[in-house]
Amino acid sequence: MTQTSITRSWVASANGHTDFPLQNLPLGVFSVNGSAPRSGVAIGDHIFDLEAALDAGLFDGAAKAAVEATRGGQLNAFFELGRGARVALRERLIELFKEGSTLHGKIEAQGAKLLPLAAQCTMHLPAKINDYTDFYVGIEHAQNVGKLFRPDNPLLPNYKYVPIGYHGRASTIRPSGTDVRRPKGQTLPAGQTEPTFGPCARLDYELELGIWIGQGNEMGDSIVIGDAADHIAGFCLLNDWSARDIQAWEYQPLGPFLSKSFITSISPWVVTAEALEPFRRAQPARPEGDPQPLPYLFDKRDQAAGGFDIELEVLLLTEGLREQNLPAHRLTLSNTQHMYWTVAQMVAHHSVNGCQLQAGDLFGSGTLSGPQNGQFGSLLEITEGGKKPIELASGEVRKFLEDGDEIILRARCSREGFASIGFGECRGKVLPAR
Ligand code: CA
Repeated sequence: MTQTSITRSWVASANGHTDFPLQNLPLGVFSVNGSAPRSGVAIGDHIFDLEAALDAGLFDGAAKAAVEATRGGQLNAFFELGRGARVALRERLIELFKEGSTLHGKIEAQGAKLLPLAAQCTMHLPAKINDYTDFYVGIEHAQNVGKLFRPDNPLLPNYKYVPIGYHGRASTIRPSGTDVRRPKGQTLPAGQTEPTFGPCARLDYELELGIWIGQGNEMGDSIVIGDAADHIAGFCLLNDWSARDIQAWEYQPLGPFLSKSFITSISPWVVTAEALEPFRRAQPARPEGDPQPLPYLFDKRDQAAGGFDIELEVLLLTEGLREQNLPAHRLTLSNTQHMYWTVAQMVAHHSVNGCQLQAGDLFGSGTLSGPQNGQFGSLLEITEGGKKPIELASGEVRKFLEDGDEIILRARCSREGFASIGFGECRGKVLPAR
């Protein structure tokens, strides 16, 4: 079914909604009025309560089995069911919510019981995250950061062969809206030979795409590149908060540790592969002279349609901007087309050694910067490590984040002839160190 054939919903706020028109239908976990966390679908300004709808008899067959797997406030079992279940649920949801639906009256009669206002709900993590891996596939970010440290040799020689990643910390991933406590740690002040201990002075954000794993693999097996896309349940926005001064002192030789593990924020809605289908793109051709991916990372279909055209935005809201009623300052406008490796390549690489992936595992893409000013996905790049402070309309100046600053990530997909969809926000406000 083409999107153009069904563009309107009887849920008035869904039509033309920035993030959640009928064509998106992302899944999440929410609570309302102190209820236990439960699964729902975002539509316009509302959340469709999947569990209440199940009890009201609105699902049968494969869609019913799919919704049953979302019970209990975690989507892991639903992710495990894979694409067939997602598609069955999506088709039923479109049937329920399209303009002219025969069930319009039945759903509307139950009012907020089935369709509470999202503004009155609290969002939770959508799944139990057993493992979190952060990749580094944003080649512009890798080059920008590499240049700061190695002007003549910004990219290390493995970059174009290996989708670089490291194991992150799952226990401190939090949904949008969770405050960010400034971490404390060891740092090496410039010109000193011995570290000091105290609050991070170079707190930063990283703009990333989050990838939810669906069906996993048995330990010892691997997911081949041609099947990898089928193992992805959906996508979100991810802010990999980074303490640059702690990172600079601790990262050699094993990579980031405490500089990243204090919190990672994600947008709470899982945008499905089906919703993103119109916004798939060919993976951008590799520049002349770059090596071709090794065979286990190469698939023709993945190269032809394994990329995405998703516009990514970062906004900064400070106390000064708030006090003067000024709009948030846009720090970054970038796009997922700056990924050197596709999400399928990340999945194939992660499991090629027999490492087990499980439903509800989360990947970060790595910072997705573009090549130009205005497209950089971290303050480290924007201010060149603090050398070029930015000035805000409030008169405030920033090298890195200060207490009270709030970072807001957004994403949007647009294409002629299709309804635009978004991801919802991923926000976090910095609190002083304790
Ligand atoms: Ca990162």
